[in-house]
Amino acid sequence: MFDNLSYKLDRAFKTLKGTGKITEINVATTAKEIRRALIDADVNYKVAKDVTDKIKEEALGRDVLISVSPGQLLVKITQEELTKIMGGEKKDINIQGDPAVVLISGLQGSGKTTFSGKLATYLKKQGRQTLLIACDIYRPAAIEQLKTLGEQIGVEVYAEPENKNAVEIAQRGIEYAKRNGKKTVIVDTAGRLAVDEQMMKEISELKENLNPTETLFVVDSMTGQDAVNTAKTFDERLDFDGVVLTKLDGDTRGGAAISIRHVVNKPIKFISTGEKMENLDLFYPDRMAQRILGMGDVVSLVEKAQQSFDEDEAKRINAKIRKNQFNFDDFLSQLEQIKKMGNLKDLMGMIPGMGKALKGIDIDDDSFIPIEAIIRSMTPTERENPDIIDGGRRRRIAKGSGRTIQEVNNLMKQFADMRKLMKQMNKMGGAQRALGNLM
Ligand code: GDP
Repeated sequence: MFDNLSYKLDRAFKTLKGTGKITEINVATTAKEIRRALIDADVNYKVAKDVTDKIKEEALGRDVLISVSPGQLLVKITQEELTKIMGGEKKDINIQGDPAVVLISGLQGSGKTTFSGKLATYLKKQGRQTLLIACDIYRPAAIEQLKTLGEQIGVEVYAEPENKNAVEIAQRGIEYAKRNGKKTVIVDTAGRLAVDEQMMKEISELKENLNPTETLFVVDSMTGQDAVNTAKTFDERLDFDGVVLTKLDGDTRGGAAISIRHVVNKPIKFISTGEKMENLDLFYPDRMAQRILGMGDVVSLVEKAQQSFDEDEAKRINAKIRKNQFNFDDFLSQLEQIKKMGNLKDLMGMIPGMGKALKGIDIDDDSFIPIEAIIRSMTPTERENPDIIDGGRRRRIAKGSGRTIQEVNNLMKQFADMRKLMKQMNKMGGAQRALGNLM
């Protein structure tokens, strides 16, 4: 996420490296570099100017503490200003009501249907009974897409494929929800490839008639400044409550995330970072600012781990580690758990300093494929007793998995090192603590 921007900001702060104190001249130079980095990331010009003017003002107004270098101080001030410009506080979705009605708006292809599924999944995890309503009256395929999603996540979908009146469908869907004890309805609507009057009229009518608890505007972050302009147009007609930024996992430059709040004055409430149903996050301006600055986001990483890790499984593995019995089956199960957490590169980017180190390196879920192939080519006995895997067995495993003997040897070595480390931790009685820190 935002690799290029993080890299350029880092370079901007480097201009202060080695300087003992903040002066008007060196702050101006750094601020200019920061502004250029923001504009390159497709941040709205006025927003970039406002942020850097504030950074300059703050930096010159603050005494540099002895323990903080000018570079560190500027990073901190930039983080604070980026946080402010992105809205400061996290803003929650409003789902008060019986049922609460959430209206989803946005252009076609922005990710409305995908987000509707993700939101339903998110609410389901909180134990809320949810109904999805398919209101795209133009594309039968869109109704089918929502139905398939609903089946996949175990959430009911209300649709009337023959009906061409979106308001009527939504109203009857809401009645259906009331009769069936659903606490939230999510109304997925039709979009167009570009803003047009008829779409605006339709979505406004839906809003007037349904009186939703929450109206969300979904926008593709890859479209940069266009995302901000579209948000503005929708907001003028709809007065929506919040923004959902999608496709932040892609090669997005970050401009939309930074500019939207300041330009439209509506909070970003969710960010979507992939096509999987789990790839949805609440938007925390402070954490986002930290990530942009390559400071990582350990809090989100831990939260993700807590959401994804199966507690019973974690206990089982913990017990095996304590008994020095961690084997390849356990390793495989851990890989599965990590994969559930989402895009690997994004996850690693949450570790401070890692984002920078990973710039330009391609890591995705496929990175696990060779390891999994090797482990799956082992017999159950071998997986349970890795010590019996000798040279002959390694050659057979390499052949079976289609990987080289070198790769098998590497994995065996890594695994042996891992077990050694676990043993040492056990000796120190700290396994539980160390694992607790990992998860
Ligand atoms: P809609 O027309 O607004 O309902 O958009 P869809 O939900 O059908 O999404 C359009 C395309 O974008 C689909 O191929 C989705 O899988 C994809 N998509 C949606 N959200 C994300 C995301 O956060 N990341 C990525 N990489 N793709 C997404």
